[in-house]
Amino acid sequence: MRIVLTLFLTHVLLFGAIRHFSTYEMKGEEPGNKLFIIGGIHGDEPGGYFAPALVVQHYTIKKGALLVVPNLNFDSIVQNRRGIYGDMNRKFDHIDANDPDFELVTHIKSLITDPSVDFIINLHDGRGFYRSTWESAIFNPRAWGQAYIIDQKTIDDVKFGNLDKITSAMSEALNNSELAANYHHFSVKNTYTKDKDEQMRMSLTYYAITHLKPALAIETSKNITELKTKVLYQLLSIEALLKHMDITFERDFDLTLEEVERLLTRYGTLTINGRFTLPLSTARNALYFVPMHPQNNDFTFSHPLGTTIDRGSYHQVMIGNIPVARLYPQHFSLTCKAEKAVAEVDGTLRTVNFGEHITVKKTFKVIEDEAFRVNLIGFVTKDRDSQDGVRVQKTDFIPRFSLDEDQHTYRAEFYDNGDYCGTITVTFE
Ligand SMILES: [Zn+2]
Repeated sequence: MRIVLTLFLTHVLLFGAIRHFSTYEMKGEEPGNKLFIIGGIHGDEPGGYFAPALVVQHYTIKKGALLVVPNLNFDSIVQNRRGIYGDMNRKFDHIDANDPDFELVTHIKSLITDPSVDFIINLHDGRGFYRSTWESAIFNPRAWGQAYIIDQKTIDDVKFGNLDKITSAMSEALNNSELAANYHHFSVKNTYTKDKDEQMRMSLTYYAITHLKPALAIETSKNITELKTKVLYQLLSIEALLKHMDITFERDFDLTLEEVERLLTRYGTLTINGRFTLPLSTARNALYFVPMHPQNNDFTFSHPLGTTIDRGSYHQVMIGNIPVARLYPQHFSLTCKAEKAVAEVDGTLRTVNFGEHITVKKTFKVIEDEAFRVNLIGFVTKDRDSQDGVRVQKTDFIPRFSLDEDQHTYRAEFYDNGDYCGTITVTFE
């Protein structure tokens, strides 16, 4: 399987979103049907974007293909708001060219109508719990949660056009699985969009079906407060649909609440300008003297929902709607050309590139080199300016200088004549 990541970062001049969505193409060895998974159209519905983020990171397609956009409305996701430029899911019949969402909506429409796509799902967390008859203010026909939303029963003469049948099978699969509570059971909600629902005529799924692309929305409930539960239901729903579409896959974890919870707190790494890699899962809330450019820094995340918000005095690191760390910068020109050092890691010599994150069992030493000065942050020496040629272990560091809350990870920084060259991130086991 291949994953092709195309990251479109656009800094739009006057109008327009700052963060463009990412597109992941996941192809099996064997050809087959293609499902397009769209997450994050509403920024305050994290079940809808953390689920596709896990698909991208932990699934391998064997037969058929996936196209995944986990973060359609990324600017709204980082603010945890439905839509900072208005409701994006009401912009699919018409959108003004000067609408900040124009570029995103135009781009996603072109992906939806791509001839290779067989089916589209749009992931949400919806209000309440959908029931076909009125039970209470939370359980009623006007609610959206725990339902598969279809605009009509069928799209005639289109492969997978029997939306009613497909979603009925998905409900049955979910309701036969182990739900965290009985009242979390799923239903099919038909909005009869063409005849009855003027609002839904502006939606993504209606745009798709009027272009003869089968589409539905998966809504877990906003009233389920635990993210892991919503994500579990989204993944179970996606898998039920994959089965129907004969798209086969492997995943590298068991689909249980415990495992989903564990994966949701794995934030991966952030690499800054290719010179410093910061592990994020256990990073301290605030990190000081982080070397970077005054402007236009390159922040590369391993997590599909990773991004930064510029807050002036610091950069707020986000994974989706979750604030992970504040980085207070120290500015350098970064003209230094050195890219690597030789180090002794547990007694073995090896070349380590700046920007690398290494694990050390016991001891670490940078081999002396005229090309740079070494600063082991949190390690104090009185008699020398450069800290190369010194073998160190974890207990040699002052714990408050660690990068992580667990006090295992420290940084070796390299300088040339006062300019910053790069960092080797060292985690002691
Ligand atoms: Zn929504």
